[in-house]
Amino acid sequence: MIVEIIPCLSDNYSYLIYERDTNIVSIVDPSEFKTCDKIIKKYKKLDFILNTHHHADHVDGNLKLKEKYNSKILGFNLDKDRIPGIDIYLEENQKHKIGNLEFEVIFIPGHTKGHIGFFFSKEKIIFTGDTLFSLGCGRVFEGTHEEMFNSLNKIKNLPLDTKIYCGHEYTKSNLNFCLAYDIKNNFLKKKEVDIQKKLNLNQPTVPSTLGEEIKTNIFLRCNDPELKQALGLKGSSEVEIFSKLRDLKDAF
Ligand code: ZN
Ligand code: FE
Repeated sequence: MIVEIIPCLSDNYSYLIYERDTNIVSIVDPSEFKTCDKIIKKYKKLDFILNTHHHADHVDGNLKLKEKYNSKILGFNLDKDRIPGIDIYLEENQKHKIGNLEFEVIFIPGHTKGHIGFFFSKEKIIFTGDTLFSLGCGRVFEGTHEEMFNSLNKIKNLPLDTKIYCGHEYTKSNLNFCLAYDIKNNFLKKKEVDIQKKLNLNQPTVPSTLGEEIKTNIFLRCNDPELKQALGLKGSSEVEIFSKLRDLKDAF
């Protein structure tokens, strides 16, 4: 499984997935036709379009790509009226094959009501859309803070060496937030050096791994006693801490 990162718009990532054995080409969240098509052209075909959620910056390339390549569009059943051109309705926990590659549908609502992640368990790769970012998480637009918290916990239970491919390059601003509130975290300081190096070279900071995120992403650390204390929220539940952090980040 080859994953090509396609930077789109100002800070979006679309991802091209290629499987050599079967010559199957897929794309996750085509933000825009032109930029994605420049990469797809090399392969001369596009079999599948996978959408994590219905927002325009993740589906705007759908219809033109489908028209040009006769691709099939896959999205969550709850979003069948909101994902342009959808052909195949996916269900929670369903396993689905594209060529020889198999992914599991992880239902992770919160950012939107029908948000899903695509987890390729054999390759240990997940596409998290706008739910989990490197060092951050998506804004809660359609769901509740508790739903978002539960969705992040679902991802947290995957193998630690799972690679995280997220929907946006928000890592730098997420890093600044983590540094402001998770001041004693030494892993974060190490991560800061890595991130700065990549950004200086104009490289994507993705993918990271789940193990790294659990050590450094403040939204995955609501169970950390030291962080709780630093926030002055020692007696609060994990979901209360998550909620507080989400509010602070929205205003950051
Ligand atoms: Zn979104
Ligand atoms: Fe987005």
